Order: sequence, then structure tokens, then C-alpha cells
Amino acid sequence: MPYFSKSSKRNLAQCHPDLITLFNEVIKHFDCKVICGHRGQAAQMSAFIKGNSKVKWPNSYHNKKPSMAADVIPFPVEWKNLKRMKFFAGYVLGIAQGLFNEGKIYHKVVSGLDWDADTILKDTTFKDHPHFQLIPPIKAAR
Ligand SMILES: [Zn+2]
Repeated sequence: MPYFSKSSKRNLAQCHPDLITLFNEVIKHFDCKVICGHRGQAAQMSAFIKGNSKVKWPNSYHNKKPSMAADVIPFPVEWKNLKRMKFFAGYVLGIAQGLFNEGKIYHKVVSGLDWDADTILKDTTFKDHPHFQLIPPIKAAR
């Protein structure tokens, strides 16, 4: 069974409990790596300058404490394998929906491939393949 590396665990620990629950379930079935949890001011500025984020500090979901977003990619890492990242994103969203339906997480989850969660990908102008974020609470967070 796949398991998280130390750096993945450290990054995931910076995230909201719902993201921790979600990816601790995902990793049982689909090997992956958490490349980013919380982003401080300097890291957010760097991500913005590099074009990896469209927003400045403190407007990213990664800037919240705990982080309301996690960047997670399938393992082994293949940045150019966008099909596999899309495959992974669909897998994550399916697991997330199941956990939400079972009351194990309290937020719905959105992928950076489908920000408006309409399941249509061609209307997504900024595709952030590894990005998953929580939709503001339906119920009060724990
Ligand atoms: Zn992200």
C-alpha cells in the first residue's frame, strides 16, 4: 500500500483537517505526493511571480491557517503527464464526494482544473493541475 513521504506528511499537516482526511484516504489507493500545504507571504509572492498562482498574499487558499488548499500530484512525479494528473484529480474528487456524503469531511472539494465545479474543463482558463481546495463550509468546520 502506498504511503506518504516525510515531506508529504509535513505539507499535509499544514492543511485543514478535511484535506488531511481526504488525502489520507487517497494515499491508500493512489500513490501521490503533497507538494504544498500552507504558503507564507514570501512563498506566495514567489508562486505569483513564477505564474504558479494567480493571486497575491494573502488571497490564496494556501495562505489560510490551516491551509484550505493542497497541491498534490500522482507519484512518481511526471510534470508533463497532464493526462495522469487529470485522471488523479477525478479520482480525488470522487473520494472527496464519498467522504462528504458519509459526513467524514465537512467541505466539498474543488480541483484547479475545474474551479467552478461544473465538470466542464474547457471553460477553465488557468489550469492548476495539482491544486485542490475546500469550498467554504456548508456546515461549521470542526
Ligand atoms: Zn495550489
